[in-house]
Amino acid sequence: MKDTITNEKRKKYMREYMKKWYNKNRDKYKIYRETKERKEYMKIYAKKHKESIQEYKRKWHIKNRDKIIKKVNKWEKDNPERYAQLNRKKAKRYQKKYPERVKASNYVYNNKQRDDTCSQCSSTENLEFHHTDYENNKGTTLCRNCHKQLHRGEVFAV
Ligand SMILES: [Zn+2]
Ligand SMILES: [Zn+2]
Repeated sequence: MKDTITNEKRKKYMREYMKKWYNKNRDKYKIYRETKERKEYMKIYAKKHKESIQEYKRKWHIKNRDKIIKKVNKWEKDNPERYAQLNRKKAKRYQKKYPERVKASNYVYNNKQRDDTCSQCSSTENLEFHHTDYENNKGTTLCRNCHKQLHRGEVFAV
């Protein structure tokens, strides 16, 4: 118990110290951050530790997922116009990148190829079509939730 208290104290002290240092040297640090040397160094560092950085980011995301989702949802609610604009841009980019996918999705929609229930959880709401083969228009009907989970690679394979 004693150890944790001193540890906490030490951490707090370090934080304060770093804050003070940063406030005092802010301008210097900003200039330093933009230097070629530092950028070069960061590039090399990122390359060298690519895997551990990715692993760290992945773990951070998993740990903070609920917080991130909440934050994103709040942002979407607070900025509906900006959000709609971003969505339109995204759709455009997607259309440009994967025209055959968009065509296939439209085909499914127009031909009512979708089932009435999710093939995973039997939900009847927010149904989407997940393509396993765009060329031959094969796939399965999933609800939005299961579809999201599938693309996150969390569950089942179709
Ligand atoms: Zn899909
Ligand atoms: Zn489902």
